[in-house]
Amino acid sequence: MKFYVLTLFPDMILRGLNTSILGRAAEKKIISIDAVNIRDYTADRHGKADDYPYGGGAGMLIQAQPVYDAHKAVTGGRKLRTIYVTPQGVPFTQKIAQELSRLEELVFLCGHYEGIDQRVLEEVATDYISIGDYVLTGGELPAMVMIDAISRLVPGVLHNDSSSESESFFNDLLEYPQYSRPRVWHGREVPAVLLLGDHKKIAEWRRERSEELTKSRRPDLYKEYIRKEELIRWLSREKREKIHMIESLRRGKAEILYADRGNVLLYDRTSRLCMISAQNAETGERLLEKVPKDASLFVTSQDFLNEPICNRFSCEIFHECIQVCYPQKQALPVKYKDIRLLGEEFIPYVRERYHMGDSEYVAERIRAGAMYGAFCDEKPVGFIGIHNDGSLGMLFVEETHRRKGLGISLESYAINRICEKGWTPYGHVVTGNETSLGLQERLGLYPSSGTIWWLGKKD
Ligand code: SAM
Repeated sequence: MKFYVLTLFPDMILRGLNTSILGRAAEKKIISIDAVNIRDYTADRHGKADDYPYGGGAGMLIQAQPVYDAHKAVTGGRKLRTIYVTPQGVPFTQKIAQELSRLEELVFLCGHYEGIDQRVLEEVATDYISIGDYVLTGGELPAMVMIDAISRLVPGVLHNDSSSESESFFNDLLEYPQYSRPRVWHGREVPAVLLLGDHKKIAEWRRERSEELTKSRRPDLYKEYIRKEELIRWLSREKREKIHMIESLRRGKAEILYADRGNVLLYDRTSRLCMISAQNAETGERLLEKVPKDASLFVTSQDFLNEPICNRFSCEIFHECIQVCYPQKQALPVKYKDIRLLGEEFIPYVRERYHMGDSEYVAERIRAGAMYGAFCDEKPVGFIGIHNDGSLGMLFVEETHRRKGLGISLESYAINRICEKGWTPYGHVVTGNETSLGLQERLGLYPSSGTIWWLGKKD
């Protein structure tokens, strides 16, 4: 991901962001940060980029011309998301960070003194975002704060995207308390449950502490969390039919845009995916009015939603699918021994063999730590992955290794990894693909009785 920062103090940005995790991510070229000096673009002979505000008032204002020209130089006339960091903006949150982390390029505009001439903001800024209700001397610290929070969500920066899955704000909860050596410090013992190695008990303890902490410190977040839990309980009455919604909520991917019993609209900002279930065509139409403008994929639970979506959002139906899910908790046996997480060096290998989605999709999934490969004599012979909506897929086995149960081993391996996180593995089988359905059933995945439809924008 590329960040461009338009600022009067480029050194401050570069010095602030070139160390530790972000420094390493920049070295590995997963992110890049280009700090552009607004002053370099001024048409003023004396290098001035600011002037007095019309109508009087304290302080100076950055002028429109240098900002406009610096922006034009960076974007080359392309329409890039441009964030003006300002105390007058919407408050920055983890959700906004998540949404922005899926962009390839992002421009930040930092004000100084009293701010920036309004006219250029109206021409270049697409978003106005604040880091809190206080006034700083300049936009450099806010831009750095946002770049840090966004970057660590870019697949590959933390190496494994599960690192952010237990952190504060994931699933509307604050993180549980953590302890390190020594076991007793100042007479205070580490909680006994953390020392016994029982992962289920540890997960329960952590969840309880997270709930307690959130309830007392952030009642606003806790309310959202409870709303989500109630919806999950409601959806679980038809678990196999609604497993995509349940798991998206559980894994902190989707937010609730509307939920009133049988009428549910969820949005996964990172994948720009809307999940919709409606009781009838009329309530369905009302849900469609709430769909975010940038939505590009849809999963519907009723056929009557499909035509209105195609018409309203210029979409077409990609697939009709049965959902399969693995409700058991115990791990599956994996016969094939050499299966492991795929590293970035296998991006070209997978790309050559998997052609769905755009070319960046495979790289993004591998960087997210969501793809596993089977190896024979250190050479890859097959792979499987977890799609960004959370479903299992991308299964491939080399011709030379087919009909030996390798597909089953790969899927069992991926199922075990998902179960370890306390989630329910699930997948989508295109209706009529009996071979795939047979494989899923042999592994213990149960099919839904109803179908879902995948729709997307026409090319
Ligand atoms: N006159 C402005 C106002 O009252 O809204 C404040 C200007 S402030 C002194 C200078 C610059 O710092 C702003 O243009 C903005 O870019 C940045 N800034 C200050 N506080 C900020 C905050 N809480 N969030 C984001 N940016 C901020």
